[in-house]
Amino acid sequence: MAGHNSLFNSGKTVIVAGPCAAESRDQVLDTARALKGIPGLLAFRAGLWKPRTRPGDFEGVGEEGLKWLQEVKEETGLMLAVEVAIPSHVEAAIAAGVDIVWIGARTVVSPFVVDEIASALRGSDVYVMVKNPINPDLSLWAGGIERLMKTGIKKLAAVHRGFDVFYSKPYRNLPFWEIPIELKSIFPDLPMLCDPSHIGGQRDYLERISQKALDLGMDGLMIESHIDPQKALTDVAQQVSPAELKKIIESLKQREQQGQADASLEKFRTSIDELDEQLLEILSKRMEIVTLIGKLKKEQNLAPYQAGRWLSLLDDRIQKAGSLKLSNDFVKKVFETIHMESIKHQE
Ligand code: PEP
Ligand code: MN
Repeated sequence: MAGHNSLFNSGKTVIVAGPCAAESRDQVLDTARALKGIPGLLAFRAGLWKPRTRPGDFEGVGEEGLKWLQEVKEETGLMLAVEVAIPSHVEAAIAAGVDIVWIGARTVVSPFVVDEIASALRGSDVYVMVKNPINPDLSLWAGGIERLMKTGIKKLAAVHRGFDVFYSKPYRNLPFWEIPIELKSIFPDLPMLCDPSHIGGQRDYLERISQKALDLGMDGLMIESHIDPQKALTDVAQQVSPAELKKIIESLKQREQQGQADASLEKFRTSIDELDEQLLEILSKRMEIVTLIGKLKKEQNLAPYQAGRWLSLLDDRIQKAGSLKLSNDFVKKVFETIHMESIKHQE
């Protein structure tokens, strides 16, 4: 399989870049022209059919955009990458000479749709990138890839775009780096790209997420870039201009592959960093609510410290500690510290 995939794992970081959505002929061509020359740039991406979470937002220009993409290919020689969500998208993309299609996070969650897309791709020569599903479900991601493999598709890659969870601050989608790392252990030859645009949701985060992806040995990056990001019809906050993208790519340090021992240590450290980040977010959210409670108590003339409530809370948390394999003493100390800080916030 490695041979078939040499497009993505040549050893150099592969870049797929372009706007979240194709909006007009000028926007597409101007963006592609400005992107040309970015180190490692392999393909130009643009969404034609945008699967929006809520109806009524800009849903893409559809097949009309394929003409503009063909012009990009003729003029720049770049490969073309588009998202497909149903079989008719696949047929239109293949007919237009698209080189790479990707299955998006909202589509890969549906096994029947993935099977239909796989059938539509049967016998074609296009590369297929499979994004992770929106929810942190490794099996669903692996299952989508297996459905394509079963149809005989060999030119495959995975794209890590983060997971939508309730506490995803500061990012739009939490990376849960251990999930793509696990996927890699299921499919060792499968190239893995990272999409820092949809993980971060903000252009300021692109560099740090991209660097992390390279440090973990990922093969490439898919990044959204728009000729005039502020005017983008979708994903305004995360798109960068081609000039900004060039700066980011040039600033990335290409790390040599780490040894086996280092790689697993790095994997565990990454998990710890992520968990701590969530811990801090949850503590901050808790403190916000404590402050609101403090205001209510003041209005109702109640003291910040309510012994009955505190003792039953502590009792409940200590009881839960056992089933989570945490010692009573540890959980007691943690909650006493949190409680003291909460009282201070309310005074
Ligand atoms: C996209 O790449 O524009 C996109 C819609 O991404 P995702 O499926 O990851 O949300
Ligand atoms: Mn997007």
